[in-house]
Amino acid sequence: MPPVFLSHGSPMLTLETTAATAFLRRLGDTIAKPSAVVVVSAHWPTERPVAGAAARPATIHDFYGFPSRLYQIRYPAPGAPDLARRVADLLGCGLDPGRGLDHGVWCPASLIWPDADLPIVPVSLQPALGPHHHYELGRALRPLAAEGVLVLGSGALTHNLRAYAGHQVDDPAEPWASAFADWSAAAVTEGRIEDLLAYRRQAPFAAQCHPTDEHLLPFFVALGASEAGLGTVLHRSMEYGVLAMDAYRF
Ligand code: ZN
Repeated sequence: MPPVFLSHGSPMLTLETTAATAFLRRLGDTIAKPSAVVVVSAHWPTERPVAGAAARPATIHDFYGFPSRLYQIRYPAPGAPDLARRVADLLGCGLDPGRGLDHGVWCPASLIWPDADLPIVPVSLQPALGPHHHYELGRALRPLAAEGVLVLGSGALTHNLRAYAGHQVDDPAEPWASAFADWSAAAVTEGRIEDLLAYRRQAPFAAQCHPTDEHLLPFFVALGASEAGLGTVLHRSMEYGVLAMDAYRF
């Protein structure tokens, strides 16, 4: 089961119709159906890795100032406590029996698997620990892929919220955001793992695209979980002029 990185964009994803939402709605049919999903979202930061072990994870509405109907959405996918324990063994990490699904998980998942029938185990990320740590975290999860589990990184290929403010969803792409997305797509398809891990020095406009890099860290989990190291582009588009919605399979 090849790992996937996807960009979850704004929570408005679940209400809008864009190229990215059309892609996500097709994705469940594009890839084989996994037995379960282990997902690292940009919206669960912790100091040390933790795996969510809730049998019935709640839907977390961890965003502010959006239309009220977004807060009424529930995504009732089951958890998988046994798989969470296996993840904890592989990572040598702790369990959180009460963790729900943040919007980095349920917003895209509700488009990809609208029946909410796939068990989901969330795993936290460590914003202070950078790309190499998350690559190794992904590498430790490689055995799961052989068992049909999808390792999913949910973040954003570009994520500058200051630049995002004031833009409309269909505004034309800013050249600096496009340059970063172009560089990333080339590095992924050419398998330039060292360049990707050193993206902050290697990629154009890296600091502008990621003032903080928690939204890119899930990318490195998916990359590390790959046996191949090479990626293919599943989707590319830009929303709000600056939010690249790109997705890769590794
Ligand atoms: Zn986000």
